[in-house]
Amino acid sequence: MTSLPPGSVIGILGGGQLGRMLGSAAARLGFDIHVYAPDENPPAARIAAKHWQAAYEDKATLKAFAKACDAITYEFENIPVASVEYLIEQGAPVRPGAKSLEVSQDRLSEKRFLNSIGITTGHFEAIDSADDLAKALEALSGEGLLKTRRDGYDGKGQVRLKTGDDLAAAYAELGHVPAILEALVPFEREISVVIARSADGRTTAFDPSMNDHAGGILRTSIAPCGLSDDVIAHARSLAETLAAETGHVGVMALELFVLNDGTLLANEIAPRVHNSGHWTPEACLTGQFEQHIRAVAGWPLGPVTRVFDAEMRNLLGKEALAPPETYSDDAVLTLYGKRDAKPGRKMGHVVWRTGKA
Ligand code: AMP
Repeated sequence: MTSLPPGSVIGILGGGQLGRMLGSAAARLGFDIHVYAPDENPPAARIAAKHWQAAYEDKATLKAFAKACDAITYEFENIPVASVEYLIEQGAPVRPGAKSLEVSQDRLSEKRFLNSIGITTGHFEAIDSADDLAKALEALSGEGLLKTRRDGYDGKGQVRLKTGDDLAAAYAELGHVPAILEALVPFEREISVVIARSADGRTTAFDPSMNDHAGGILRTSIAPCGLSDDVIAHARSLAETLAAETGHVGVMALELFVLNDGTLLANEIAPRVHNSGHWTPEACLTGQFEQHIRAVAGWPLGPVTRVFDAEMRNLLGKEALAPPETYSDDAVLTLYGKRDAKPGRKMGHVVWRTGKA
């Protein structure tokens, strides 16, 4: 694909805040956005030239969408892989493609894939029954985190377990679905590397951020992450391996646990722009959303030099209802336009530039 001229249509599968911010970045580069999402009036659709409201499995609508778009991407990793493959069959350039999507949809295949390309994870065991769970818990020294293999996000579909707990009840609570039991990683901090890869294989990685979670939900991301140059270089090289091995085109994130001795263990992959990269538009020469659109459009990637130190804080639920006067002059506020401020729901974020880099 040659580079898309301004005025071209970029299609986004998924209608959430990531699509909305991708759409804003695309608009700034002169593109039109079409959003494909089953929900009525989702955040991304409200800034789009067109909203295709249909199920992700609706082939007739997918076909028409493929025809209407010059390139297609996604903002949500639970899009059915078959739908992405169908769009590709229709001749639509879908970037990043299906591989990284497929790998990241299932925690077990994700971890096996990471290990197969030399990226270490914590210990894990596949779980298909309460019996498996008892054996796996023993193998993990009596403690672990049970997670559904598919469809979990923001701490949903996860239960912490130890020997003596009612394992049958815990497995029933997840709905008897395929799961994995992960060893609890005694991390010193969590970081992520947000990396972009262009169609011609060039990569740019943002400085890793240090990420703080509560109840499985990201609360803050801080850059720089405070680690040594060696550990940072190692983290970047892991993300580069991942981007190359998946042939991903666009932005992706690698979440890592950092142990006291600097060992890095991968937690998970996001095959898309990532919440822990929300500080980049305010602190770097090119932000993650523009970078992704550049890769999707076949444009050269922009420089990711970090100009400011930054802190990003998510606004969850009613936190986003604070009046604008609440924030200091140095706070950059982004709100997602979601109507219902349910507890724990990501409604917006604030970035502070905390110093010159
Ligand atoms: P996840 O949805 O799997 O990324 O989990 C959300 C958050 O829960 C992570 O960012 C960690 O803070 C914590 N967490 C998940 N898995 C583990 C683990 N195996 N050991 C320790 N903490 C974990």
